[in-house]
Amino acid sequence: MGKMKIWIMTDLEGVAGVFSFEEHASSKGRFYDLSRRLLTQEVNAAIEGAIEVGFDDILVVDGHGDGGINAEELNPDAKLLSGRPLLLPWGLEKGFDAAFVIGQHAMAGTEKAHLSHTESHVSIQNVWMNGRKVGEFSIIASIAGYFDVPTVLVTGDKAACREALSIIQGIETVAVKEGLSHGAAISISPSRSRSLIKEKAKSSLLNKDSIKPYKVKPPVELLIEYTEAYKASAEHMASKPSVEKVDSRTVRIREEDLLTAFRKWF
Ligand SMILES: [Zn+2]
Repeated sequence: MGKMKIWIMTDLEGVAGVFSFEEHASSKGRFYDLSRRLLTQEVNAAIEGAIEVGFDDILVVDGHGDGGINAEELNPDAKLLSGRPLLLPWGLEKGFDAAFVIGQHAMAGTEKAHLSHTESHVSIQNVWMNGRKVGEFSIIASIAGYFDVPTVLVTGDKAACREALSIIQGIETVAVKEGLSHGAAISISPSRSRSLIKEKAKSSLLNKDSIKPYKVKPPVELLIEYTEAYKASAEHMASKPSVEKVDSRTVRIREEDLLTAFRKWF
């Protein structure tokens, strides 16, 4: 049998015990090192689950803006893609058997979603893909789907899990916390989150053939609405070829190819 390959995208805001952008998720925050440790241990739990069901080729992507993975603590059987810019397609290619998304938060504007945002909490108001409002989860799952890779597990706050379930039938979820507001949440303990993640990682992979890759039908149209303070970014984007201005802060990207569309934006 060939190698069993898994691709793991990570983010920091949707990790058990991570509560604040400024204190936990920013490299200037006093709990940043702790948060990186909490994420890395959740990722390790997912990796252990994958290894137990026969996966032996594991690529972890450090997706959080300031970085969220502590390389020294990462399971030695995994490889790490980090550094900036994190160029698309983020290490993905055909041949991965499954994808995980660990530490995810919900899209900008979601009710009772802890630390929700879409790509940037300062510059982006909303994003739509082919008419559907999307968050980071959909973007990641669509890029995995482009390479025929099914996203079989998501972990994060309850709202992020709900968002994933709304586009991928049968995906396994681990809700590690529940947002009371954008800034406050009730979290399960990090050690409990790890045991749940390991268990769901295993069951999701054993069940992976029943989960379809998330495919977005071409042509791909992205509508990107910037915040009022970042209107100039819309202006700048609209100066690129085949990017169209919709209103003072919104641009439209239309491409036959999904990766080309996202490359134009990122
Ligand atoms: Zn994020």
